[in-house]
Amino acid sequence: MADIIKDEKFTADVLLNLLSETTDDYLYMWDIQNGTFYISDNAYEDLDISRLIEQDVVTSWSGIMVREDLEPWLKDMQMIQDGIKDYHDMEYRVCNKSGRVIWVSCRGTVKKDGSGRPLFMIGRISNIGKQNKFDNVTGLMNRSQFEQDIKALVGTETAANGVIVVLDIDDFKNVNEKYGYAFGDRALNLLSTLISAMLPKGCRLYRLDGDEFVFLVKDGTRETVRGIYENIQMFIGSHFTVEGHQILISLSAGACFFPDDASTYQKLFRNAENAVEIAKMNGKNQLVFFSEEMYQQKLRNMELRESLHACVKDGFSQFELFYQPQVDAVTGAVTGAEALLRWHSPEHGEVPPSEFIPLLEESRLITQVGAWVLEESARQFQIWSRYKEDFSMSVNVSYIQLKDNALLEYLKDGQWGDLPVGQMVLELTESCWVPNLHFLNQEFEELRGMGYGIAIDDFGTGYSSLSHLKELPANVLKVDRSFVTGIHQGSYEYIFLEYIIKLAHSIGLKVCVEGVETEEEFDIVKQTQPDYIQGYLFGRPVSASGFEKLYL
Ligand code: C2E
Ligand code: CA
Ligand code: CA
Repeated sequence: MADIIKDEKFTADVLLNLLSETTDDYLYMWDIQNGTFYISDNAYEDLDISRLIEQDVVTSWSGIMVREDLEPWLKDMQMIQDGIKDYHDMEYRVCNKSGRVIWVSCRGTVKKDGSGRPLFMIGRISNIGKQNKFDNVTGLMNRSQFEQDIKALVGTETAANGVIVVLDIDDFKNVNEKYGYAFGDRALNLLSTLISAMLPKGCRLYRLDGDEFVFLVKDGTRETVRGIYENIQMFIGSHFTVEGHQILISLSAGACFFPDDASTYQKLFRNAENAVEIAKMNGKNQLVFFSEEMYQQKLRNMELRESLHACVKDGFSQFELFYQPQVDAVTGAVTGAEALLRWHSPEHGEVPPSEFIPLLEESRLITQVGAWVLEESARQFQIWSRYKEDFSMSVNVSYIQLKDNALLEYLKDGQWGDLPVGQMVLELTESCWVPNLHFLNQEFEELRGMGYGIAIDDFGTGYSSLSHLKELPANVLKVDRSFVTGIHQGSYEYIFLEYIIKLAHSIGLKVCVEGVETEEEFDIVKQTQPDYIQGYLFGRPVSASGFEKLYL
């Protein structure tokens, strides 16, 4: 090599251009001692440089560089000239001939003489803007650049701290479906501009995939992040029109702090993604901060879901129904039972229904499990109604079961022979009645037509549907436990109970008050004149055989 470039100018020039024919990179050679610089001709074609560069590379090259990137580059050049560094490896932005900013990666190796004096540097400059630094829909930097930037930040010893926030547009696929992908892209582009404008100075927005964005706030706190998120939410909520179409956009967000919640890029990113997922699961249009606890809960839910699938496949063997007595509020005599599902899991122990029922609902397994519950409770009911003619059996029914339409079909089949279905009460929680009142009314009208009893469960916890209480095709109102806890005469709970019970009776509904645990509570609840009581005071849920022994 040294021999070839002895006749410097001629050989170096020709050699660089020959080599450059095999690559898109710009090749260069810098004679550090003489100050002469050669670069392949393709650089003159693409970049705004003149032959002056051959005499003074530092000044010429500085002229096309983006200001912010200049200082570290100058420093590096100085260190090379001073013989402190013997390689160059940087990424920075330069302007091309048409005035567009492009990212380049510049690498070079320094050759020194015996005494450590730098003789020349030889290397190449690649245009990486053409590669994958930018997202071509929004012009934002992309995931790989985000990764690189975060790694550079969290990897340093200087204790950097901050927070990354992943934004995910809710239901963006609807926009694509309704208006087409080209429109969707333009919407994303506009959206990214709006979001960028809402970020604090120096805070850069990146596009991940699809409708996901991310930004980083150095030294950010929960308050700063919340403030930024709420601004974005407010702004796009009220301003978002694309090509004359007003589109409704909401964003879910997940945030993760470093180094507190994660100290590597992978973990940080995974955690923020997890937080977004939870924001979506909790109903979208919200910001969730990652926490280890939440993550563990998510992992547990995944495990529970798997076990539930296995259990259903295995013929429901881990499930059992417990029964809790319902008593006459005046005489205290047992009038019926509510069937309550129990899951004895070999892996997880006794998992409470409040934890596994929502998982069954999410995964729609509730349709199958619900059918099993109905069958099992009906079987039990058949036996017990022989002991006690007017015995009633209450069974919980999930909203999902109704939506899947399987329940109606199932009950219509009427395979229970002489079962007194009039004393079989289907319980549905109050909050389910409201949003789909019309649809549910039809379903329940039909069920009632078949003779089943209908109860509105957990009354008082939903959007108290007092106004349409009259329209609901129900026979029983079950008032939630929260109205009993802490009840005393003249309290809000007491007045609520008294009022609701009067109202219910006036339209022919029976009332069952749930959650009576103590004699004191019972004494007061009694005065509001409900029809039935269900609570620990009269009996906890027990197995079928336990129930028989105790109450029948
Ligand atoms: P729910 O329908 O309101 O059932 C009453 C819940 O209150 C039961 O909890 C019962 O054990 C509890 N409870 C009764 N009396 C008292 C009391 O005096 N004090 C206290 N602290 N609690 C009392 P459980 O068995 O844990 O069930 C929780 C919920 O799970 C049920 O609430 C119901 O919404 C759901 N669930 C249970 N089994 C089924 C089922 O087979 N299908 C469906 N879809 N949901 C079910
Ligand atoms: Ca219930
Ligand atoms: Ca209830």
